[in-house]
Amino acid sequence: MILEPRKRTDRGGYLAMPLRKNVPEPHDQGWKLTSCPVCGRECWERPLSDWLRESVDGIVCTECALAAGSNQAN
Ligand SMILES: [Zn+2]
Repeated sequence: MILEPRKRTDRGGYLAMPLRKNVPEPHDQGWKLTSCPVCGRECWERPLSDWLRESVDGIVCTECALAAGSNQAN
């Protein structure tokens, strides 16, 4: 899955974290194993800038983001 870079004007929606079941090994040293706040499954949190973190409604796993209607699809 390729995530489009978000623009600063984008607000709302959910950021998707890769699920560990889909991505067993981190792609980068900055990835941190965490759990999805919605479903509790293990996923990878990637380093995010503060403005991006504050601009979204939540940071959840890819499946929860899709279920919630992620605006990454636009
Ligand atoms: Zn989830």
